[in-house]
Amino acid sequence: MVVLRAGLAAVLFEVLQLAGTAFVAAQPAQRLEYAIVLHGGALDDPETMDRELRRQYEAGLGRALEIGKQVLATGGSSLDAVEQVIRSLEDDPTFNAGKGAVYNSEGGHELDASIMDGSNRACGAVAGVRTVKNPISLARLVMTRTRHVLLVADGAEKFAGEMEVPRVEPSYFDTDRQHKNWLEVRERQAKQGKKGTVGCVALDKRGNIAAGTSTGGLTNKKYGRVGDSPIVGAGTYADNATCGVSCTGTGEEFIRNAVAHDVSARMRFLKLPVAAAARQVVHEVLKPDDGALIALSSTGEIAAEFNTGGLARAAANSAGLLEVKLGK
Ligand code: ASP
Repeated sequence: MVVLRAGLAAVLFEVLQLAGTAFVAAQPAQRLEYAIVLHGGALDDPETMDRELRRQYEAGLGRALEIGKQVLATGGSSLDAVEQVIRSLEDDPTFNAGKGAVYNSEGGHELDASIMDGSNRACGAVAGVRTVKNPISLARLVMTRTRHVLLVADGAEKFAGEMEVPRVEPSYFDTDRQHKNWLEVRERQAKQGKKGTVGCVALDKRGNIAAGTSTGGLTNKKYGRVGDSPIVGAGTYADNATCGVSCTGTGEEFIRNAVAHDVSARMRFLKLPVAAAARQVVHEVLKPDDGALIALSSTGEIAAEFNTGGLARAAANSAGLLEVKLGK
């Protein structure tokens, strides 16, 4: 009971300390035992968000965080934490990944995902899949069961069949909310909407970092369009020597600027802490409203930067941090 109270006090202390900050933990002097940060996509303005949708976002992030934290606290690998967190977000219709994927210009869904192991820079990705229930798991199989990094469309579907991963009818990915979003974007001829992509970076007790990202892409995207999420170095990157990164936003800008790798490169060559590297890339390389990223250093320092109205995100670590946030 005493231990429980002490644990709770530590958590509250961390949460209070971090309330109102930019969700950037101070640089830990030593490596934390474990740490995890995840995102549910860049947001326009969390203050103007429908209250029920906001609640769903927070609940979904909280559930996924608990899953990842549990894996890490019990000695599981960062790769398992990342895969399980992203699977939970893919199964949640609130997010633009898996079940809640956006509609493309043809009224269908084409899903992208990637995962990377920071201990050896092994990586795997899939793009343009239409029947794979959890693209992040297929991406991991590309990493572990092939000598390739990226499989696309029909080839990726064929591989999914060989791996016997759960498949669904394309209509499984239909949701009223995303259908309405699609009709609105088409009606306004607006720029392609971005929201709700998911990602996760974890550091496990062995000091290994893993990162992953999964998305339905941009609403009303052209058939065959592939964004940054399955492109290693653009939407996802992990290297034990520096950090892990997962991005969200207008994918073309993230590919053009090799954003995820740039954060790692700034740490490696400029010797910047992860928070400064993330800040520079999001605010000096990218343009306002391009998007956001989460990053986690090899010592467990967490960064979350966005140049959009908000970023749905959550984080936890072995020192008691436990937080879900949508805005500043
Ligand atoms: N980055 C994703 C893409 O361009 C979209 C997003 O993050 O919302 O496909």
